[in-house]
Amino acid sequence: MKNTDVLIVGAGFAGAVSARVLADAGKKVVILEKRNHIGGNAYDWIDENDVMRHEYGPHIFHTSSEKAVQFLSRFTGWYDYEHRVLGCIEDQLVPIPFNLTSIEKLFDAQKADHLKDVLIRTYGMEKKVPILELRKSEDPEIRELAEYIFEHVFKYYTMKQWGYTAEEIDPAVTGRVPVLVSYDDRYFQDTFQKMPDQGYTAMFEKMLDHENIQVCLNTEAMDHLRVDAEQGCVYVDGEKFDGIVIFTGLVDQLLGYTNGDLPYRSLEFDVQSKAGQYQPVTTVNYPTPAEVNPYTRITEYKNMMKDAPKEKTTIAVEYPYKYNRTGEKGNVPYYPVFTDDSKAMYAAYVEKLKAVPNIYLLGRLAEYKYYNMDQITDAALAFAEKLLEK
Ligand code: FAD
Ligand code: UDP
Repeated sequence: MKNTDVLIVGAGFAGAVSARVLADAGKKVVILEKRNHIGGNAYDWIDENDVMRHEYGPHIFHTSSEKAVQFLSRFTGWYDYEHRVLGCIEDQLVPIPFNLTSIEKLFDAQKADHLKDVLIRTYGMEKKVPILELRKSEDPEIRELAEYIFEHVFKYYTMKQWGYTAEEIDPAVTGRVPVLVSYDDRYFQDTFQKMPDQGYTAMFEKMLDHENIQVCLNTEAMDHLRVDAEQGCVYVDGEKFDGIVIFTGLVDQLLGYTNGDLPYRSLEFDVQSKAGQYQPVTTVNYPTPAEVNPYTRITEYKNMMKDAPKEKTTIAVEYPYKYNRTGEKGNVPYYPVFTDDSKAMYAAYVEKLKAVPNIYLLGRLAEYKYYNMDQITDAALAFAEKLLEK
């Protein structure tokens, strides 16, 4: 590690964005990445059907952050793509987030008109209302509608996705997909909704192509890194390392699981080749009980592409899975699981790491945060800029 100013664990958004900012400022950066590719969970590649496959689940770029767009646009062009999701509810496909069109499709015309009027009168057009808030309405008619939406959109999907009820997990999780008092059937309402024109991996290749950045793939960081929290220092291959360490992996792994395993949720993708077109939109959600559909959603990747192949297609059926770091299945930590207990365990790990001043935690795993790609881009930019000021 001689001549290394910054050691980064992980080549996803957190690691790559901060690496580039620091390298541009003249820092010598080494990235250790355990996988055989860069890009973290945004990694994509062209598969046997000529489809741009997102290996770790569909990744749609959407943001209202000019700063994130400006930075990423140094490494990619973009094409327009607005994500639309349909939910399979009472054997119909209706817009998700649940909106005024969903009401029209699921109720008879008279009842639908009435329910729409009540929602618009109470909240106003173009308003977003989290389901847990809608359920607490003082208006019995709104509460009744809220129970219907909860039962048909959130209850079983959330149980399948998290293994917890919607009431047991942080309300911000279901709040990501609010009820929309609107006819806008897009999944996101951000001002910038575009995809990288050559894919995410190509964007990362350009970002990391810098004389001051060295990327070591297939390299498990914990085979090289040792944290001594008592002494407040870090060792790399047995030698004390006084440079900066930016860690974007699992903080419980970094500290040897001394406070227990932090809970994560994993996924398994059943990827299938099909002929022609499989479904009308990129993603169809199945908010039905597990006994009816054990999966949460099906994604047809080519529906996100600019020039999609016509004859063939690739779909991924998404099964939530209990995370097990040593298991054959479910060994990828996709989502932090936010409960009071997990937040307390995470805080204890952070407290312990405070003793080691040259280690910084950044990213979805390390910060135990439900970051979207634009949010971690912004966070990594702010972090790296602050580091350079020191
Ligand atoms: P990651 O992408 O997880 O990168 C961490 C990297 O560190 C990985 O490459 C990992 O292999 C490496 N690493 C970890 N531990 C070690 C170790 N010990 N040694 C070496 N390397 C290590 N965001 C959106 O904006 N839009 C979407 O549509 C969207 N869809 C998503 C769908 C799914 C199924 C998931 C799980 C996430 C989705 N996201 C989406 C979120 C997006 O994936 C994250 O915002 C982003 O990947 C976070 O980047 P990161 O660098 O923090 O983490
Ligand atoms: N959700 C749901 N039904 C849906 C869509 C979402 O219950 O049809 C809830 C569920 O708890 C999910 C959360 O809202 O985990 C966030 O959904 P999002 O689509 O943002 O999840 P992600 O794409 O991050 O997996």
